[in-house]
Amino acid sequence: MRNPAEPAIAVDAPEIERVLSLRSGAEFESRRLIQGRRYDRLVGGLRDVISDAIREKKPRLVCPLCGVAVRLSASQQKRFFFRHIEEDGSCPAVTRSNLDHDTIRALKYNGARESDAHKITKNRIVESLSADGGFSEVAVEKTWRAKVGNRLRRPDVQAVYNGIRIAFEAQLTTTFLDVVRGRRAFYLEDGALLVWILRRFDPEHRRMTEDDILFSNNSNILVVDEETWRLSREKGRFMLRCHYREPHLDDDARAERWQQAVIGFDELTLDSVGQRAFLFDFDARDAEVVQEAAKRQAERLDEALREEIFSYWTEKNIRMGLDKSSLLSWEATVGKAAQRGLTLPQVPDEHAAFVTAVAVLLSAKLGRPAGYRYTKLIQVAHQVAESHSELLVPFGFALKAYGTEAIVDAEDGKGTWRQRKVGFKERIAASPGAHFAALPYAGALRYLFPELSEKIRG
Ligand SMILES: [Zn+2]
Repeated sequence: MRNPAEPAIAVDAPEIERVLSLRSGAEFESRRLIQGRRYDRLVGGLRDVISDAIREKKPRLVCPLCGVAVRLSASQQKRFFFRHIEEDGSCPAVTRSNLDHDTIRALKYNGARESDAHKITKNRIVESLSADGGFSEVAVEKTWRAKVGNRLRRPDVQAVYNGIRIAFEAQLTTTFLDVVRGRRAFYLEDGALLVWILRRFDPEHRRMTEDDILFSNNSNILVVDEETWRLSREKGRFMLRCHYREPHLDDDARAERWQQAVIGFDELTLDSVGQRAFLFDFDARDAEVVQEAAKRQAERLDEALREEIFSYWTEKNIRMGLDKSSLLSWEATVGKAAQRGLTLPQVPDEHAAFVTAVAVLLSAKLGRPAGYRYTKLIQVAHQVAESHSELLVPFGFALKAYGTEAIVDAEDGKGTWRQRKVGFKERIAASPGAHFAALPYAGALRYLFPELSEKIRG
């Protein structure tokens, strides 16, 4: 089964090729509307919204050919398409369910076979709740009257917990999305909480109805099975098995795995407003992971761009003038940098001060001359002291930041650099303007040498 965070897939040739939004008046290509989002967000988002809107008789999307509202349906393979909510033969697009008789019979048979399992699960829920002193007013298939209006429901099991009235529903096989959403709205309006309980769950083989529950419940699924039923009675505490999706970073990319745990109902977060009962806050963690993955991806791109730019100093002799082909590739690099918000000189030859600044700071970073014909870092140091007052202070900080000061000292056999350094303090104090001058392309220098960003004036 595909990762629920991957994009949803539409059927290849939908009968309803386009849908019309009654909200915006815009028409959308059906397949693009579906495939433009993550599977979990489509099922737990747009699909729910469309279903709710139809129930409230304020449809969001209609067929532009006939004006009939459409719902988002899924094939057995979980490929999506739009279907008229009613088919009266007046529309050239025919989306009637084309289940053949054998399929319908098979579904009915499944329904019958499931009902025994349903009974067992219902009993297990009741016995689990009854074992736990935290629950009161436990009742089975008892009529639930809405506080307002005359509407009635009959949840499988109901109970009161910490002052919250909870309806437990265990039947899913023949439950379709519109029914799920309708019940949700009923209990929400009544200030109660609807909790779906499954009798088993296999993350690798999820039915569409299970996905409908999963994604609207913060990607947590609650199961009452033989083991939890036994544990509940042993511990006098309502125990459940919780399956949930756990997003994580894998090699700087978002990934996810399924987890499960046997837990007490008291460990769940109960969210009446969102009609959710969950152990693990998938939404919060997912947002963090998505953000962190994007950040790391950006960092990787930045690092690659820095390497590319530095290569003009370490390999392409930019200080002596780039040859024709290197100049062409420099233009490409400038374009790439611009996409990341970074301004580099188009013609480096005309910006010798920038080229020198990079050469000096990169030499300090690498611990060896970069873009110079010198062989030793100390030669760069003397050059800076003699000819580039504006780079002397940043160079000094760069030696410290990159831990290359010791290289200069080791190369300083005659002690000339040591002697020279003695005078720096006075020299800088005597002409601060020259030593703290703004550097050209300071933004680019800060990007290239983030460790020095506070020391680069611009
Ligand atoms: Zn139509």
